Amino acid sequence: MILLDRVTKKYKKKSGVAIERINLHVESKEFVVIVGPSGAGKSTLLKLLTREEKPTSGKIVVGGIDYERLRDKDIPYLRRKIGVVFQDFKLLPNRTVFENVAFALEIVGMGNKEIKHTVPKVLDIVGLKGKGQSYPIELSGGERQRVAIARAIVRQPKILIADEPTGNLDPKHAWDVIRVLEKINKYGTTVILTTHNKEIVDKLKRRVVTIKDGKVVGDKARSVYS
Ligand code: ADP
Repeated sequence: MILLDRVTKKYKKKSGVAIERINLHVESKEFVVIVGPSGAGKSTLLKLLTREEKPTSGKIVVGGIDYERLRDKDIPYLRRKIGVVFQDFKLLPNRTVFENVAFALEIVGMGNKEIKHTVPKVLDIVGLKGKGQSYPIELSGGERQRVAIARAIVRQPKILIADEPTGNLDPKHAWDVIRVLEKINKYGTTVILTTHNKEIVDKLKRRVVTIKDGKVVGDKARSVYS
């Protein structure tokens, strides 16, 4: 599903490397937790996957798409395969929960009738049935993050990238979000999660990839934070 072969990223010619010769293979339907200190290169790795950044060298293949052959006009298609959620939710404040999720479908040209059918189903998956008419400000942080997840999965991406999704949440709400990620993974979506939360990593017991100074220094199945 995801293959990185000796991927290096240098932001500027004279600066150091953000990521150095990383090799990583993630199978379809895996749940992978990426950990590492601040500045280790985790965000850079995710930005390379979403094509926000291009590697300086190395090969990236995601869902059969070789990024070297990717043309600019293929990028919207790629982004449909990859859903992303961020620490700060990035919801539209003056739109309802329903509208926030529907927006992701409107921009790909889905008709109103289908949108009305699809959005409630996704809100149900993330445990927000009945909250469609609420505005983000009326929700808890955990609920807001679950709206962001609903928006990220509504187009049924093959991969969901969650970059510190629990960073702004208290433990209870953090777990609500993690449980939703587990559920989505169980339904067949590959999940890539970055987190600093040791307790979450330890309880999840999933594959843990540790990055330090731009390199993979640990990669273990059913592991804990180290
Ligand atoms: P993490 O997500 O693990 O905190 P990052 O991927 O954000 O790490 O950063 C890795 C390294 O790349 C750091 O040294 C950081 O300063 C550098 N870096 C990140 N983004 C940029 C950028 N846009 N321009 C220049 N350097 C960057």
